Amino acid sequence: MEKERGLLIVLSGPSGVGKGTVRAALQDKVKDLVYSISATTREKREDEVEGVHYFFKTKDEFLQMIENDEFLEWAQFVGNYYGTPRAFVEETLSKGKDVILEIEVKGAFQVQEKFPEGIFIFLAPPNMTELKNRIIHRGTETEESIHNRLNTAREEIEMMEKYDYVVVNDEVDKACERIMAIIVAEHCKRERIIQHYYKLIKEDL
Ligand code: 5GP
Repeated sequence: MEKERGLLIVLSGPSGVGKGTVRAALQDKVKDLVYSISATTREKREDEVEGVHYFFKTKDEFLQMIENDEFLEWAQFVGNYYGTPRAFVEETLSKGKDVILEIEVKGAFQVQEKFPEGIFIFLAPPNMTELKNRIIHRGTETEESIHNRLNTAREEIEMMEKYDYVVVNDEVDKACERIMAIIVAEHCKRERIIQHYYKLIKEDL
């Protein structure tokens, strides 16, 4: 079959829900899934690597990138800027590879406007206590940041209605399997395949 454009998969949901963990586990299992590395003005955490976890930028650099229209989407989240570099996503999709973005909710809505054909998956916590525990146990956030992230999470969960799918992250492996099932099903969507068969039936045998 001809190479089609890849799928744009947007994994979104509240901070602390485990988007990063689920996305990394997913990449281990689905070898040809390409992760789009974001740019951010947030301070690098100890275990993070430039160009692997994020492209770390100063505020001025980030604002310049906005000015140059280099982002597919960008948002401010708890005092920092985060954005998805556009060129990489477009090039990868046009090579027929699936791309996954791991972004917060406001950014996901911007992508929805530009790529309505994207697949929007909301990763949800099993409950709010579990979400709070996960943010605390990460051990990287100040008391104020924990409080802000939880309040933001409440607002973000209200936005669930705008997504195509909701995956509960009760266990990472189970959440991964559900997302893999969604990706397989989306590749089997009639509209992605039908044109190919319309061409086939016109061939002389
Ligand atoms: P963290 O500071 O915990 O790495 O990320 C904070 C939030 O920003 C998370 O919800 C994360 O998914 C989101 N995020 C990471 N990269 C991007 C991005 O490129 N765009 C948007 N809109 N959100 C992002």
